[in-house]
Amino acid sequence: MVKPIKICIVCGREFQWRKKWERNWHEVKYCSKACRSGGLKGIDRKLESTILQLLRSRQSGASICPSEAARNLGSDESQWRSLMEPARRAARRLVHQGKIDILQGGKIVDPSKFKGPIRLKLKSE
Ligand SMILES: [Zn+2]
Repeated sequence: MVKPIKICIVCGREFQWRKKWERNWHEVKYCSKACRSGGLKGIDRKLESTILQLLRSRQSGASICPSEAARNLGSDESQWRSLMEPARRAARRLVHQGKIDILQGGKIVDPSKFKGPIRLKLKSE
């Protein structure tokens, strides 16, 4: 049996149907307790809009590193570093909104599966 898949609204990763969700699968939004309790905060939306703003301010076809969005919003070293993972989650959500692609070595990667450094690029029309 092929298990149904959903996209977590917080981390933007795919997750698979599990037995414990048998009764309420249609309502499930989060892949994990961590995502459910963390939820989406103002800063998460800000990271999304900052990524888009940075990309739109560059030449078309240009790419950015998610750290640029994190640096943009973090006032000091430790603060922007703590925004790195949230910036990557924001990037995944933007992929699912059809707004950007995530690239590694110039190739589009699966937002649920990539590991290591990534670049972000506006989705070409
Ligand atoms: Zn999640």
